Amino acid sequence: MGEFELIRQYFQPLAAKAMTDQLVLGPGDDCAIQCIPPGRDLVFSVDTLVEGVHFPLNYSSGYLGWRALAVAISDLAAMGAEPVCFSLALTLPEADPDWLSGFAAGLARASEAFGITLAGGDTTRGPLTISIQVHGTVDQGKAIRRSGARPGDLICVTGPLGSAGAALAFLEDADPDPIRQAVLARYHFPEPRLALGQQLVGKASAAIDISDGLLADLQHILDASAVGAELDARKIPMMPELEQLQGDQSLSLALTAGDDYELCIAIAPDVLAGLTSDLRARLTVVGQIRMTPGLSLVGADLAQVRPGFDHFGRLV
Ligand code: ADP
Ligand code: MG
Repeated sequence: MGEFELIRQYFQPLAAKAMTDQLVLGPGDDCAIQCIPPGRDLVFSVDTLVEGVHFPLNYSSGYLGWRALAVAISDLAAMGAEPVCFSLALTLPEADPDWLSGFAAGLARASEAFGITLAGGDTTRGPLTISIQVHGTVDQGKAIRRSGARPGDLICVTGPLGSAGAALAFLEDADPDPIRQAVLARYHFPEPRLALGQQLVGKASAAIDISDGLLADLQHILDASAVGAELDARKIPMMPELEQLQGDQSLSLALTAGDDYELCIAIAPDVLAGLTSDLRARLTVVGQIRMTPGLSLVGADLAQVRPGFDHFGRLV
């Protein structure tokens, strides 16, 4: 199967499904064309997943299709943007039809679920690597940045933490029990918090999506905003299934394991109090921004929490 046949068969159908007024031209030309409506900013980001680094060898291609797009879209959610289109740079060791149809099906499901259209891409041969660039828009000047957190803001997260990280230990389990299944689903099917991010535009003072663990990602907000924070370990939300599986280790996973793709936001207390009860119910307050730099933890011993990990192998 040639490169163009592969694109036509597996990826063109995703593009044809949902051309929008903002995606003027999809795959097939030298570039795609996106129209940015007046009064909106283009918000874009690229994410790369490398086999053996960001997902295990022989990982199901159907899961991978969903996961690769969901993870990329999570960055749009963190900025409060509405998704429009994405491009896909796919490097494959071989053109395996089973792998490709699984991958394209997972990608198509995510693309429909999150309302984002395939606009183009690049297809090459080499070690399995997936790069996805996502484009979205947000009202001009309104994107939620990491740099806006202010002393006194409350720190909130949008869902339970630690499960995706725990799932790494048994991703290859052929016949997981229901408890493990619940935890595995958090790794296989991350759900970027798009609607929440959009509803928090003009309300949250800062936001980030949790890809590397709450401690590490909150630290990015603190650095960008030149503030510190206090977290309350007793308030960190966790799935009951995680606690059943991991016991004492759950908190450490919830604080330092990545891959959950919930949002961490900072929001002024009066703004939080003024949100609709529906929106407030989606947010769990886990701490507060302080003027003093540094991140402190109450309710648990920070020294016992496993240090986070960054891609250059440095302990953070
Ligand atoms: P060029 O050589 O001009 O860069 P390519 O030969 O790489 O173009 O791609 C031809 C067309 O196919 C382009 O419109 C490109 O966007 C599209 N395309 C290539 N790979 C993919 C893919 N994996 N998914 C969707 N569209 C793709
Ligand atoms: Mg060209």
